[in-house]
Amino acid sequence: MIKVGSSARAMFPARRGVPVLGLVAVAGSMLSLHAPTSAQTGPSLDDAVARHTAAVTRLRHEIHRNPELSNRETETAALVAKHLRDLGLDVRTGVAKTGVVGILRGGRAGPVVAVRADMDALPVTEATGLPFASTKRVTFGGQEVGVMHACGHDIHVAVGLGVASVLAERRETLPGTVVFIFQPAEEGPPEGEEGGAPLMLEEGVFERPRPEAIFALHTMPDYEVGQLAYTPGPAMAAADTWRATIHGRQSHGARPEDSVDPVVMAAQAVMALQTIRSRNISPTAPGLVTVGVLRGGERHNIIPASVRLEGTVRTFDPAVQDMVERRMNEILDGVTKAGGGSYEMTYDRVVPVLVNDVALADRMAPSLARSVGAENVHVIPAVTTAEDFAFFAQEVPGFYFRLGTTRPGGTSGGLHTPTYTGDDGAIPVGIEALSTLVLDYLGDAR
Ligand SMILES: [Zn+2]
Ligand SMILES: [Zn+2]
Repeated sequence: MIKVGSSARAMFPARRGVPVLGLVAVAGSMLSLHAPTSAQTGPSLDDAVARHTAAVTRLRHEIHRNPELSNRETETAALVAKHLRDLGLDVRTGVAKTGVVGILRGGRAGPVVAVRADMDALPVTEATGLPFASTKRVTFGGQEVGVMHACGHDIHVAVGLGVASVLAERRETLPGTVVFIFQPAEEGPPEGEEGGAPLMLEEGVFERPRPEAIFALHTMPDYEVGQLAYTPGPAMAAADTWRATIHGRQSHGARPEDSVDPVVMAAQAVMALQTIRSRNISPTAPGLVTVGVLRGGERHNIIPASVRLEGTVRTFDPAVQDMVERRMNEILDGVTKAGGGSYEMTYDRVVPVLVNDVALADRMAPSLARSVGAENVHVIPAVTTAEDFAFFAQEVPGFYFRLGTTRPGGTSGGLHTPTYTGDDGAIPVGIEALSTLVLDYLGDAR
């Protein structure tokens, strides 16, 4: 495992503390050190991308208008499977409930690579004003909610289908095999269900054939269409969820001497947990402990019997992750012992750190530069959000990059918001970039 702050960051020493959007020159100068890996460049890939863009953009609109929540992506999956079958790929459906896997076997021997696109939408009520905006409503967690592709997975599906279309056309000369993975439930399966990347792996998505590398992209409204970005090494955080109950003894609010007050213990715990960030994690290393829920009590004049705490931990290094879990237990144990109470905690490691394989990132960066121009490829710092592509990238070297989706001069809300507006112009950029990665990896010429 590569630690952020040591080797991965040392590759880009000049960008420490540089704002994300100020990295153009650094990225450009880094990338110019590499010669293109492909033997030829030429217009043929551009032509193919241009020919397939309209069709997959129409599919994007269809998917956007009909978003489906995690593990419910049945109509999206049917549309994906039909497109892949029409292209002549070997298609498996129902992988990890609604996932679709399409295998494109090239006419020449060569490596196996995988391309992953996620398909699920979010319980967000759309307010983009797009002509193909979603007006769909479903029941989620017992409540009626709007559904929206607020994380841009509709664009991921369109790009994935576009790459399949472009590469299927050159199947006869393709030196290797491409496994297209259309994944359900990236945002996490509903309560009580399994799903997403770990279930796909459990169901053998990496068997027969086993890919030796995997690629994916994610939309990014911080950048305009035509811009790409990536982070070598640890790129997105490990996300852990914890839930704790602090037990005390209930009493009248006017008789604290009869109580073991869980509210006071919880208050001390909340403050003490923040010392993990300030005192136990190196000031130069990322990592955080958030208390998102602090709940207890029924009435102003009753000291309750217990208080609940819930939160998230984000780290980039398994050793730090282990340390944080240990320190949380020590703090909760110490605080509740001192107060005369007790605690219990469940701590779930939900998604591991997403590591972009440094050697693979170094090898593929020139391909990104060639597809959009070196000045449009940004090397960006790691972020504290998480992505379940991390499970795939634990199995084989992975490379995950960002696709700018804001219309030049336009505006967009952030991911997971009702105004996230991904521009169609990002679709051909994504197809070109991902196809270039795959072709260069397989050693084909453009
Ligand atoms: Zn998301
Ligand atoms: Zn997403």
